[in-house]
Amino acid sequence: MGDLRVGTGYDVHAFAEGRALVLGGVTIPDHAGLAGHSDADVLVHALMDAIISALREGDIGRLFPDTDAEYDGISSIELLGRVARLVAERGYRLLDADTVLVIEHPRISGYREEMRERIAAALGVDVESVGVKATTTEGLGFEGRGEGVGAHAVVLLERVNP
Ligand code: MG
Repeated sequence: MGDLRVGTGYDVHAFAEGRALVLGGVTIPDHAGLAGHSDADVLVHALMDAIISALREGDIGRLFPDTDAEYDGISSIELLGRVARLVAERGYRLLDADTVLVIEHPRISGYREEMRERIAAALGVDVESVGVKATTTEGLGFEGRGEGVGAHAVVLLERVNP
């Protein structure tokens, strides 16, 4: 085994009327979106945090400060591409990533494959290296009450350049 690094990420955003719902880089129609900076793509945020953590570079807030106007309304998938370039710059490659959305509504099963494809394309990896799934919480907690969406991510990086 080479030099391996793992990272985990977690994020939450609240639902907000008048915003588009973007999850895993896919815009899901006919549902309230999420409040937050950029497009509030909670799944991609958790994934970026996992990758940045595996690089031991802190978190998204450190790399892309929300005080910086450059990141107003920016697509999270675009930022994920920048994180992927950082992985290469630091001499690593992403071996695998897995994610979980914690969401009561809407059901995202019909968008899952497109999310995997969008994420894999941004990361420059095979779609088989990206997992996306979703769970409900049986009506419990803020996700179960439909107040917001949570997302978890785990990644495995391998050092390819010393
Ligand atoms: Mg976030």
